[in-house]
Amino acid sequence: MSDGVPMRRCGSCGHVVFPPRPLCPSCGASSWSEAVARTGVVEEVTVRRAAGVTLASVRSDLGPVLTTRWPGGELPEGTAVELRLEPSGRITSRRIP
Ligand SMILES: [Zn+2]
Repeated sequence: MSDGVPMRRCGSCGHVVFPPRPLCPSCGASSWSEAVARTGVVEEVTVRRAAGVTLASVRSDLGPVLTTRWPGGELPEGTAVELRLEPSGRITSRRIP
């Protein structure tokens, strides 16, 4: 469960959604296939100093924007990252080496 983030791709128009929805917001169809987002690009960074947490909004390679935890360190917007779904259900991102 750690290699990429599972998403759903509309079987009718190909639109990808995350989190899953019953109906496609683009065409209204209800048939889905699984797709996995493995990488993304950082669009926005939020530091919650009180909680000691850095959150990054990441545009995934499949389109949907995810809010992910960042393990720490400098994180410029535009950074390419890989996406992981941790066993806890939390999404994390790491800089692509
Ligand atoms: Zn659709």
